[in-house]
Amino acid sequence: MGHTDTRPRKRFGQNFLTDQRVIADILRAVHARPGETVVEIGPGRGALTEGLILSGALLHLVEIDRDLAAGWRARTGPLLTLHEGDALRFNFAALATPPEQLRVVGNLPYNISTPLLFHLLSQAPAIHDMHFMLQREVVDRMAASPGGPDYGRLSVMVQYQCRVEPLLEVPPGAFFPPPKVHSAVVRLVPGHFDHGHAQSPPMLAHVVRQAFTQRRKTLRNALSGLLDSTAMSAIGIDPQRRPETLSVGEFVRLADVAAAPSAAEA
Ligand code: SAM
Repeated sequence: MGHTDTRPRKRFGQNFLTDQRVIADILRAVHARPGETVVEIGPGRGALTEGLILSGALLHLVEIDRDLAAGWRARTGPLLTLHEGDALRFNFAALATPPEQLRVVGNLPYNISTPLLFHLLSQAPAIHDMHFMLQREVVDRMAASPGGPDYGRLSVMVQYQCRVEPLLEVPPGAFFPPPKVHSAVVRLVPGHFDHGHAQSPPMLAHVVRQAFTQRRKTLRNALSGLLDSTAMSAIGIDPQRRPETLSVGEFVRLADVAAAPSAAEA
């Protein structure tokens, strides 16, 4: 491959997967097929890429590291396209040919995983599913239920529009160099609005952000200026509750009231 001569770069979150069993487990979970369009974020030295190429799917690689990208550029062809650049600015949706959707895969650089997830969620209609290796705590936060310390903005915003399936835990020894944290693989399937559709998704994002910026306060205080306590009580949500006790559906209802024209004077 010629990739192994570059030293892992910390600033790009390079912890390369080396455990063949973990690699096989991820590829089996993804189960890419010919005719599908798959986007891999950060192919690196190709731990997952080689198997994705063998699947016969139409594969797009997004890699920021110039040296690693050069190795992939040499291998591009009808089924393999390289996009050298930053996944945080990448227009994933532009690769989809509706009604076909994309499948997104990546052992993600942990230092940018949360903004990258929000970037992908903003393009969710173009995405069929996503399989990611992440820091285990991030997967715990995505899958968390209301009431616990892991439940927060990421849990609500991911669960609002995705089914979240934690698939496997991966120890540091599965990578070179080993990261300081444990990892986990998760499957996210967008298009599952199990908690209802928000009338204004930007308002939902705003309410959730404001609520969890001040998660130790009561809802009444955390959301002051956005919604008053009468409006909360009117939809059966006690303003004395703390944000972390609200279900995703309750956030959707709060956002709908906040989006209504009379919310400010309610
Ligand atoms: N997929 C490989 C594996 O599993 O061994 C590499 C995984 S490594 C954790 C993360 C990869 O993402 C590296 O190849 C790194 O260069 C790349 N990367 C880091 N930041 C990126 C960004 N903003 N956009 C695209 N790729 C990025």
